[in-house]
Amino acid sequence: MSDIDALNIPKLSLPRIVIVGGGFGGVALAKKLSKKKEVQVVLLDKNNYHTFQPLLYQVSTGGLEPDSIAYPIRKILQDYSNFYFRLAEVQQVRPESKVIVTNIGQLSYDYLVIAAGSTTNFFGNTEIELNGMAMKTIPQSLNLRSLILENFEQALLTDDLHERDALMNFVIVGGGPTGVELAGALAEIKKGILPKDYPDLDTRRAQINLVQSGDRILKGMSDNASKKAEDFLESLGVNIWKNTRVTTYDGKTALTKTELKFEAATLVWAAGVKGVPIAGLDAKEILAGGNRLKVNEFNQVIGHDRIFAIGDIACMQTDATPQGHPMMAQPAIQQGRNLGENLLRLVHDEAMEPFVYKDKGSMATVGRNKAVVDLKHYKFQGVFAWFIWMFIHLFFLIGFRNRVVVFVNWVYNYVRFDREARLIIRPYQRDYSLFKNQKTL
Ligand SMILES: Cc1cc2nc3c(=O)[nH]c(=O)nc-3n(C[C@H](O)[C@H](O)[C@H](O)COP(=O)(O)OP(=O)(O)OC[C@H]3O[C@@H](n4cnc5c(N)ncnc54)[C@H](O)[C@@H]3O)c2cc1C
Repeated sequence: MSDIDALNIPKLSLPRIVIVGGGFGGVALAKKLSKKKEVQVVLLDKNNYHTFQPLLYQVSTGGLEPDSIAYPIRKILQDYSNFYFRLAEVQQVRPESKVIVTNIGQLSYDYLVIAAGSTTNFFGNTEIELNGMAMKTIPQSLNLRSLILENFEQALLTDDLHERDALMNFVIVGGGPTGVELAGALAEIKKGILPKDYPDLDTRRAQINLVQSGDRILKGMSDNASKKAEDFLESLGVNIWKNTRVTTYDGKTALTKTELKFEAATLVWAAGVKGVPIAGLDAKEILAGGNRLKVNEFNQVIGHDRIFAIGDIACMQTDATPQGHPMMAQPAIQQGRNLGENLLRLVHDEAMEPFVYKDKGSMATVGRNKAVVDLKHYKFQGVFAWFIWMFIHLFFLIGFRNRVVVFVNWVYNYVRFDREARLIIRPYQRDYSLFKNQKTL
């Protein structure tokens, strides 16, 4: 077996389409293609599961177990005979020889699709990256869940009031849907769960600070949605700091551009994402802002006929979308489906159809009975919006079991005002010596 066949995938006479990433885009594309007999589909992912990122915040806050928002990629596509999955991290692309290099060997392709998503963007602030928490993957969400609980356990052990307050305080940087949803969930925990779990702590002193650099939260949504989400958060006791930019965080003190500073043991960075270019496809001229790959209207990477990119990693700059499409699930899914059709057209020597994004609207939830929904012609907030939010999330979750488990959990949590997955399964190692003997707190 030559090195190029190291992944043990039969070389057929069919064109081989290699997809990097089993997220929203990669799975939508693989589903479209794998039904067809005229191509061989190989999907590579560094994890053997698909992650439903919109519900990561519920894992971080003990509302859901991680396995209810993850799903085995092999299971999603197990009924397709010309489909191959390999657990592999793609490290390099060699377009001149149509080969990719992975941690388990090399693989040749006829068409390559990069659907590798994005990572947290700390905008070069290494101190925040080192000391703050990201929430982009399941392991990161479990780290955050552990840290939150460990901080409260630690708060019980100190009789220094300043230290105790800092251990119970939260700073969430970024007022987009992720920041808003996390802040709302933490506020509900503070109200309904902490007083019962920690009767010997004055948990009313815990502060949840949502910090937004711009002048409104949910800036991608309508003014109404943004205003209503603010009202909802304030009614839950969240402090919203607008026009405030966090500049550093050493693990205990977050400084801002103004005099304002926060003493908090938990800082969650939800202020942006960026692409992670793969070596060989990282030339300056093909990278747009946020390290995304510039693609044409067919999702073809600029200058590479046989390489495509979809989802978060792709930046399709058009008059309507000068910054590319929003880094959200819908553009990834729709690009995956469109590219599936186009690759089949290519194989049949037919002309490709350009991608046209159908914006289905956006939504965010703040907590029980509180959500905001912006559809094209109809915008609404409150209880109905909250039910719509739940329905849509259940609908897009992959796997019947996961839908049932999440639904049952939500009903249980609603009826019992509880979140029972507050478990430190995988301790997060925090250096608590940082918090000792602080005179400045
Ligand atoms: C906390 C959070 C909340 C969100 N909430 C919403 C929401 O409410 N609504 C919404 O529409 N969007 C939301 N998003 C955004 C949405 O999840 C992304 O836009 C979407 O996942 C992008 O899909 P994708 O297919 O491009 O990438 P992803 O779904 O991120 O998938 C990328 C895949 O590539 C794999 N991969 C990466 N690099 C490699 C490599 N080198 N080799 C092999 N495999 C690799 C990864 O393991 C992953 O499985 C949220 C994101 C986060 C983090």
